[in-house]
Amino acid sequence: MATKRDYYEILSVQKNASEDEIKQAYRKLALKYHPDKNKGNAEAEEKFKEATEAYEILRDPKKRAQYDKFGHEGVAGFEGFGRGAYTDFSDIFGDFDIGDIFEGFFGAGFSGKGRGKRPRRGADIQYDLIIELEEAATGKEAQIEIPRSETCATCNGSGSGSGAKPAVCPVCNGTGQIRQTQGFFSITQTCYKCRGEGKIITSPCKTCGGSGLVTKKRKITVKIPAGVESGSRLKITGEGEQGPSGGPRGDLYVVIHIKKHQVFDRHGNDILNVVDISYSLACLGGEIEVQTITGGKVKMKIPAGAENGQIFRLKGNGIPYLGSYGRGDQLVKINVRVPKKLSPRQKELLQELARLEGEEAGSSTRQFY
Ligand SMILES: [Zn+2]
Ligand SMILES: [Zn+2]
Repeated sequence: MATKRDYYEILSVQKNASEDEIKQAYRKLALKYHPDKNKGNAEAEEKFKEATEAYEILRDPKKRAQYDKFGHEGVAGFEGFGRGAYTDFSDIFGDFDIGDIFEGFFGAGFSGKGRGKRPRRGADIQYDLIIELEEAATGKEAQIEIPRSETCATCNGSGSGSGAKPAVCPVCNGTGQIRQTQGFFSITQTCYKCRGEGKIITSPCKTCGGSGLVTKKRKITVKIPAGVESGSRLKITGEGEQGPSGGPRGDLYVVIHIKKHQVFDRHGNDILNVVDISYSLACLGGEIEVQTITGGKVKMKIPAGAENGQIFRLKGNGIPYLGSYGRGDQLVKINVRVPKKLSPRQKELLQELARLEGEEAGSSTRQFY
């Protein structure tokens, strides 16, 4: 078994290092040797485990005192944690500000060549789209126009005016990082002046004012699937705002709003409409034509003796199930129409009917006079 290295030596800190110094030293090593950043690198993994073990002992005042007194013997059994037993990095990084860690991963901390731009993802855009119920039932392709940020064509996104070149940042000398040495270790931070870009725009592009981005209206085709509901959100990946410094676009979210229909009411995937029929049809039964949501017409049988308000179901004539097969039903509610104006002939027939039913209609003389 190889002799173990001294924990203070592993973390490159002094014997009397403060808790904070130990933490900072470990953080630096952890960022450098983190397995996620060194896939397949056995040496880095070993270094990471070694540093983690050292940190696990030295962060704990009790264990640290044991170690100071008795060396590795004094903490035998404790150190197993760092050796192979680690799996949950959130535990290890729990002490640190997560933002710090990521700053380290993507910015200055973990690799020797942090120079240059740090592309950031653009923002997402939400667009509210109003459609007809028919369009929700059949699906459609819609053309929408959205204002969004695009790479400035004048400067090609550099932000510098024609011919001008950005100057090397005087604070970080173009590295995008500032190294601060405190005692025995140093902290690397993103340069505050150039925000890690390493460059400073001295003569900004007139078109974009130096941001490298301009707002443009873009036409985008949106495929609306059949069956969408009000409030459905369609995600169109990569059609959001352009990211600064050449970063990827955000996403576009199209939120569907369905207009109220004059004829049909939607109930989930079923649609309901009301159809007027005459009194005689309700009595005698017959066939009527019913409008459908797809724009066609279908014939529907009314049985003799149908009642006012009765609902008939036309199976499969509703709204399609989103992302699935089949569709809901069309519910047809009948409304027995009472005519407001009667022709003399109609009046005559109805009076005859009334007499048959034992009532006297259309007369001011009451039966029980
Ligand atoms: Zn520009
Ligand atoms: Zn700088």
